Amino acid sequence: MKFFSTRGKDHEESFLNAVLQGLARDGGLYLPERWPNLSKDLEGFISLNYRDLCTNIFSYFMDDVAIEEIHQCVELGYQNVFEKDNLVDIKKVDDRYFLELYHGPTSAFKDFALCLLPQFMKLAVKKTNCNSKILILTATSGDTGKAALEGFKDVENTSIVVYYPTDGISEIQKRQMITQEGGNTIALGIRGNFDIAQSTCKSIFTDSSVIDKLGDCGYQLSSANSINIGRLLPQIIYYIYAYLQLCQKEEIQFGDKINVVVPTGNFGNILASYYAKKLGLPIDRCICASNRNNILTDFINTGIYDTNRSFHKTISPSMDILVSSNLERFLYEMTNDTDQVRTWMEDLQKNGKYNIGNNLSILKNNFNGYFANDEETYEEIHRLYQLGYLVDTHTAVASLCFDKYQKETGDMKPAMIASTASPFKFGTSVSRALGLKEDSNEFSLLKTIEKVTNVRMPDNLRNLESKKITQHDILDPDMIKNDLLNRVKEKKI
Ligand SMILES: *Cc1c(COP(=O)(O)O)cnc(C)c1O
Repeated sequence: MKFFSTRGKDHEESFLNAVLQGLARDGGLYLPERWPNLSKDLEGFISLNYRDLCTNIFSYFMDDVAIEEIHQCVELGYQNVFEKDNLVDIKKVDDRYFLELYHGPTSAFKDFALCLLPQFMKLAVKKTNCNSKILILTATSGDTGKAALEGFKDVENTSIVVYYPTDGISEIQKRQMITQEGGNTIALGIRGNFDIAQSTCKSIFTDSSVIDKLGDCGYQLSSANSINIGRLLPQIIYYIYAYLQLCQKEEIQFGDKINVVVPTGNFGNILASYYAKKLGLPIDRCICASNRNNILTDFINTGIYDTNRSFHKTISPSMDILVSSNLERFLYEMTNDTDQVRTWMEDLQKNGKYNIGNNLSILKNNFNGYFANDEETYEEIHRLYQLGYLVDTHTAVASLCFDKYQKETGDMKPAMIASTASPFKFGTSVSRALGLKEDSNEFSLLKTIEKVTNVRMPDNLRNLESKKITQHDILDPDMIKNDLLNRVKEKKI
């Protein structure tokens, strides 16, 4: 199967090449030329374990790769790094199912994609006889960075540099990155906020003199951010697997429609649920949950995407985002028109906004958008805890948005809420929601939460306190290009 860019069909690539490329050359995002209809096959997948389900579904998109090779990617990527045999867990609380996606090596859902992406890249290098080493550059607002570092750690023919902002990430997230091990990993602090880290990182990708110099030293750039199609495909699987699990446990019957609620930032995870639906999974509504940065809620209600607004720092920081890059893929879904997508993206670049006009009905046929503020989020964590269930801030936002959806529509279909991070990753906010004593030491705070709630802290977070700090460098944004070139020249990467 071929993959094309949302901004012009001329750059067709195989899946593995699209993964290596990251972003298409015209600035667009890769999409498969078609989505197979699996509605007849899905029921037969009920007995598959998580990894075999992956191999099976991926093979439709990687039809130029032997199934054994796909299988090996999945096995190597997921082997021994998740706490659960089948990676996910589903908990029923109140009237809703929580799909726990945080039992991976860094305790956030991004592990699902970032454990596999390096394997895909390794295979791509092998298949294309590429002589270059792959250099991954990634900006992070917190969770992506650690998941990417851990995923690429010591993977042959790859090196990874993660740029994290010195302002705006949690103590735990920072500690996860500066204690990173591995001979090919670098975590660099950038003085400033996430937008600055992101724009400096992006500017390297479009600087041909830097790209040429890297090329001379044998490096090819790629990205581990969620624009990479290699991150989208693995995220589709857990919606399918979870649905089939509900069937197997006789919570629902195969064919029953469910709703999915996803706490959303870059629109990647929720888009994966939409594609699961497109493959034939009986999903009715994809409910897009936002925090006070409610640009997506407004977009779903009005068809106008307008970034001319203030940015708010919230207690669900992974959703503090104004430009949701993966939305571009849905713009193509609505129109099948790459020229139209390019025009909207130019509007966004020029005026900070675009208007999808009549296409709004297609958006509304699939998505609902709601948002919740920080006060409500603290209360929801508290409310769910009273019911015996501990969630993080992002998941609490989703749960609230589901309440708002139910109240407004009266739709009582079963709902699955994507639980995107361990509550221990956002310990300060969780402890405040539970009314626990303030504590400036993050690690003793986590131990208090563990003791009070009787919920086990993930080992990767517990072990963090005793880990040696290995990554010390902090830079001004204008120094990162030279820094990168120097590291490459001196072979310190
Ligand atoms: C990244 C992240 C999100 C947002 O996911 P998108 O795919 O960017 O929409 C939500 N919650 C957590 C905990 C995250 O790390």
